[in-house]
Amino acid sequence: MPPHQLRDEWKASCSVGRELTFDPAQMTELLDHDNHEMRKKFREFMSDPVMTPRYDIPLAEERDIALQRLKRICDAGFISVKDFWTNPLRIFAAHEISAVIDPAMATKMTVQFNLFGGSVIKLGTKRHHDKLLEGIDTLEDVGCFGLTELGYGNNAVEMETTAVYDKSTEEFIIHTPTTLAQKYWITNGAIHAKHIIVFAQLSTDGSKKGIHGILVRIRDDNMQIMPGVRVEDMGHKMGLNGVDNAK
Ligand SMILES: Cc1cc2nc3c(=O)[nH]c(=O)nc-3n(C[C@H](O)[C@H](O)[C@H](O)COP(=O)(O)OP(=O)(O)OC[C@H]3O[C@@H](n4cnc5c(N)ncnc54)[C@H](O)[C@@H]3O)c2cc1C
Repeated sequence: MPPHQLRDEWKASCSVGRELTFDPAQMTELLDHDNHEMRKKFREFMSDPVMTPRYDIPLAEERDIALQRLKRICDAGFISVKDFWTNPLRIFAAHEISAVIDPAMATKMTVQFNLFGGSVIKLGTKRHHDKLLEGIDTLEDVGCFGLTELGYGNNAVEMETTAVYDKSTEEFIIHTPTTLAQKYWITNGAIHAKHIIVFAQLSTDGSKKGIHGILVRIRDDNMQIMPGVRVEDMGHKMGLNGVDNAK
């Protein structure tokens, strides 16, 4: 029996002799909590053909589809990093609805808007905002959040990556001193990102300042890896294969 027929029969058998004792629209409003109009439109938007689940497809295609889906959502204006200033719950509403359709796409979304974008907004200054916020919303500037290291996951405070401020050139020199210090699992890093916020043990003038985030360019506008940066694709995983994880 085709799925639509099965669904109709099931609905009919459920409703025989039963009256609804509540208004589904009101129940939806109660469960949704906030941003009702946006959620309604977003759910309708999710019937876009690009959102249809696809199975048993090559890794490259799975990653490409996750990006395409996110791009469609961004182009339709359902999420903006600037929502952190005006309506943060709108960002979380977008996550809730997206995660039902494609958790890999939602992972890319949360790294782009919440972890990378949120850090640019909160830790950055007007200079960073002017340069990046538009591109974060359009996905012209895809970014990563470089916290986890191979040896330091939940225990990130012990991380080993260093950032040393060089007064003479006014630059930060980011260094991975050991194998365990390599950044690991970095979402968007294998293919789609141009930027990363690297979290590292900062020192200036020989004095340790603790962990700070440093914005680093990893690919140029032609998506070529920048000099001094090494990226390895983490490849096929047991799940979330739409996420291009890197180390
Ligand atoms: C798909 C995916 C995307 C990711 N994207 C990013 C990203 O973009 N940026 C980024 O920085 N990281 C990313 N991560 C990394 C993720 O945040 C880490 O996996 C996470 O922090 C856990 O670290 P770990 O894997 O090293 O596990 P571990 O810290 O080694 O933990 C392993 C197990 O030990 C348990 N454990 C650890 N410490 C303790 C303790 N003190 N007491 C009790 N139990 C403990 C944990 O609960 C867990 O069950 C991603 C991971 C995945 C899988």
